[in-house]
Amino acid sequence: MAVKIDQKIKGYAVVTPEDKAKDAAVKAEAVARTVVEAQLPTADVIQMHERIERPEILIGSTYKIKSPLFEHALYVTINDIVLNAGSEHEQRRPFEIFINSKNMDHFQWIVALTRIMSAVFRKGGDVTFLVDEMKAVFDPKGGYFKAGGVYMPSLVAELGSIVEDHLKSIGLMHDPEKSDAQRAMIAEKRAAYAALTSKKNSDVSASADLFPSPKVRDDERVEDLEVTGDGGVSFPPSATMCHKCSAKALVIMDGCATCLNCGYSKCG
Ligand SMILES: [Zn+2]
Repeated sequence: MAVKIDQKIKGYAVVTPEDKAKDAAVKAEAVARTVVEAQLPTADVIQMHERIERPEILIGSTYKIKSPLFEHALYVTINDIVLNAGSEHEQRRPFEIFINSKNMDHFQWIVALTRIMSAVFRKGGDVTFLVDEMKAVFDPKGGYFKAGGVYMPSLVAELGSIVEDHLKSIGLMHDPEKSDAQRAMIAEKRAAYAALTSKKNSDVSASADLFPSPKVRDDERVEDLEVTGDGGVSFPPSATMCHKCSAKALVIMDGCATCLNCGYSKCG
C-alpha cells in the first residue's frame, strides 16, 4: 500500500514480528467482542423488574386449600404478567399473590407473607427459590395429609407447593425428567406388587378348598388398587407415606418397604 508522506519524518521504527502478533491479537479481540454483542439480547426485550407498571388487567389462577388446621378453606390467587407478548421472547411470569379466607385469625401474617412474595415476584430474576424455602417450613404441631395422600408438613409448605404447581403450569419450572431406567424400575415394582397381591388372593381361595373351616371372607383379604395419586395413579389404600416423595405409596414387598410412586426402597 503506497502512502504519500507530506510532512517531515521525525522518527521511525521497523515493524517486528512481535508487533504483528500484537496487532493480530487486538483484531481477534475486536471480532470476539462483536460476536458476544450479537449474542446478547437486544435492548427492546423487556425483563421483569420492580418498575414495571401493573397493567389494568392481569390473568391468573385461584387455588383452594382445605387444610384440617383451618376451619375454612383458603383461596390462593396468583396473577401473571405477560412480557414481550407476541414476540419470540414472550414470557409469562407471576406478578402478585393474594390469599382470601373467611377465617381472619392469622390475617396479619398472611397479608405480610403475600405482600413480600408479590415483591419478590416483581423484583424479577429467578423466583423458584421461594418454592424450596416454603416447602421446607415444618409446623411444630405436625403437618397433615392433603387429598391424594401427599403429606404437607405445614400450611406454608402447601402454599409453596401451590406456587410450584403454578410455576410449572406457566412453564417457569419443570419436573425433573425421570430416566428410562428409573421408569422401568418403578413399572417393574408396581407389576411385582400387583402379582404379589393377586397371588395372595388366589392362595386364599386355594387354601379355603383344602381347609374348609374356618371360613374367611375373601373381601377382607382382597386389596383393590385405589386411585389416590394426583395424576390418577393407583396406590393400595394400605400404603403408608414415603419419606422421599411424600406420597402415600409405600408398601411392604418381600419384607421390604418399597415406594410404588418414586421407586424408593429401604433395601436399596
Ligand atoms: Zn416415594
